[in-house]
Formats: sequence, structure tokens, C-alpha cells
Amino acid sequence: MTPRPVMLTDDEARVLREVWPLTLGHIIANPADGIQSLRNSCAHSGGGGWQRWIQGNRIHIEHHEWLPDVLADTCPDWCNDPEFWHTPDGKHINRWRRGDVLFEGSITLPRVQRWAESLPAELRARALVAWRTWPENTRDLDELARIVREALDAHCGAPAELTHYAGQIVGQEALW
Ligand SMILES: [Zn+2]
Repeated sequence: MTPRPVMLTDDEARVLREVWPLTLGHIIANPADGIQSLRNSCAHSGGGGWQRWIQGNRIHIEHHEWLPDVLADTCPDWCNDPEFWHTPDGKHINRWRRGDVLFEGSITLPRVQRWAESLPAELRARALVAWRTWPENTRDLDELARIVREALDAHCGAPAELTHYAGQIVGQEALW
């Protein structure tokens, strides 16, 4: 029997959207195992204005402004990324700095687990196939990403505007 749907708050849903798709895919495929793995995973990660960390029983997400700090007229030798390291008018960004916090939220790991357990069994079965590498390797990360997107869109209740990937870029452009 599928447990009753877990109603997430908007903030909780937004936090879920910022968990790596691969991690969330694991949790959908096998809730208890995926949560255990998240709990044991690197405690702190992020970049480009995003931070994710586990503290106690919660996963926290913070999105802050990531502002060009020191600009230079000429590029250093290592510069090979036309997007990230330059302003729209082509100035090289030597350093970024942290600005204001744009979003912060958290959700407890047991709630993430209950949410995953309340998803339709059919979705979990598909996720299991896309996640599994043993006893048969059927891993398909594109399919897993689709399942994660489906789970979030149909069973999360918050707008899809802010995904980790889109957010990083869209959020960044908004700051220029
Ligand atoms: Zn450059």
C-alpha cells in the first residue's frame, strides 16, 4: 500500500529541487538506502552561489548572490571559460564574492524519505531500474533525471522555476 501523499511546504519543495538529481533518483528508487547514502555523503558542497549541507537530521540549501568582485582587462593564461569568468561586455572576472542571501531552506531527511515512499509504486519501479548497477547493470542516468523531474513536477507542489542547473544560470544573469 502506498502511504498517504506527503504535502511539502513551498520551501521544502524548493530545497528538494536543489538536491542533486542523481541523489534524489537514488532516494526515489530506494528511499531508506538513498537517505542513508545522502546522510553519509559529503557534508558540504556547492559553488556559484549555491551551498548544500547536511546538519543533524536536515538538508540545508542556501542560494546567495555571487557577484563579480575584481575585474581585469586581460585574461590570465588559465582562462578558458567564456561564460562563467566574464561579464557580458567581455571583462575578465578575477574573483567573485558572496552577496546577499536569496533563498535559504531546509527539510528533514525523514520527511524526504516519507515523500519518496509516498510516490507511486510505478515511478519507484522505474527509478530502481534506472538506478541499479547490480545484479544487472541497467543504470540510465538520463531516464533517472526524467523520473526525478516527473516526481518533482507531479508530486512536489511547487513551481519548477528554480532547478539547480537553471537557477545557477538564470540567477546569475539576474545579478548583472
Ligand atoms: Zn577571461
